[in-house]
Amino acid sequence: MIQDNPITVESIDALAKKGWYVQFKSLCSSLKGGIVENKILLKENLSPYERDKTLFHELVHIHYPTYLSCKSERALSLFTELQIEAITEWLGRKARADHLLLREAIKSFELEPQVYDQASYRAFRIVKEQLAFPFAQDIIYSQLPLLMD
Ligand SMILES: [Zn+2]
Repeated sequence: MIQDNPITVESIDALAKKGWYVQFKSLCSSLKGGIVENKILLKENLSPYERDKTLFHELVHIHYPTYLSCKSERALSLFTELQIEAITEWLGRKARADHLLLREAIKSFELEPQVYDQASYRAFRIVKEQLAFPFAQDIIYSQLPLLMD
């Protein structure tokens, strides 16, 4: 059921086109994200990795409404809420580690690209040839160490 319908670049793009969007909010301490209508809520000031991990966690909930949404009765009869959260987190981390999916999600939901590990480096690294372009200027300084290798 889940293997047959993986999260893809196209499915992420389709969610954004359907009107899903991201809003940053101050959420209570233990909550990092959530879903309200077609809005993905992310806690303000998460670290770059936490932001992207949480985004993908919520994307998994949205992508599998039948099996991995806590609101679905079918899901709750198959899995407990804790199992749903664990499976969702695992699938979300797996998808985020794919640099093509990460790049698509950040682009589709108009978030600021952040480089903090291998997947995000592959998704957003700036190559020397791109440095002359205006879009590279404001990220050059934050990524300077990465440009050295
Ligand atoms: Zn969840």
